[in-house]
Amino acid sequence: MQIAVCPGSFDPVTNGHVDIFERASVIFDEVVIGVFHNPNKKPMFTMEQRVELLKESTKHIKNIRVDSFSGLLNEYVKRQNANVIIRGLRATKDFEYEFQRALLIKKIDSEIETIFMMTSSEYSFLSSSGIKELAKFNGNIKGLVPECVEIKIKQRMNENSYNI
Ligand code: ADP
Repeated sequence: MQIAVCPGSFDPVTNGHVDIFERASVIFDEVVIGVFHNPNKKPMFTMEQRVELLKESTKHIKNIRVDSFSGLLNEYVKRQNANVIIRGLRATKDFEYEFQRALLIKKIDSEIETIFMMTSSEYSFLSSSGIKELAKFNGNIKGLVPECVEIKIKQRMNENSYNI
């Protein structure tokens, strides 16, 4: 059984992420979405909220599991009985960072492969930080994020409890 891990912050999940999950789930027997707890970042959504939104956004994909982790990615991947990491690539600016990251992981664990999937052209401009910027100025995020995320962001903006 081939298991792949899609790691990320997903703060929040966008339609660009969901597109990668859908495509990865066709290739692998099981896809684990690993939401990373990054102690250096102050996220818009808590870990529990991000996991919930991911579960809701991927409920149409049968072989997907949503999980969270902290610590070293390679150790997490092994604990999932996986040896493949999937990352999405957008513009060239992703490449530099992802290239370094993939080589570093390869250096500390040669059994793990990082596989890159090109973004679909309609999502190539889409990022979680872009969504947060748009939300901050009340911009229209319809069609860019799953509906549950859109609703959650609107709620948050109405509560006025989120300052970027
Ligand atoms: P991280 O904080 O680890 O960069 P993100 O949540 O921003 O995590 O992204 C997770 C993964 O999804 C990364 O591999 C990123 O390149 C990819 N990704 C983000 N947005 C898109 C998109 N619009 N199309 C394809 N891949 C994307």
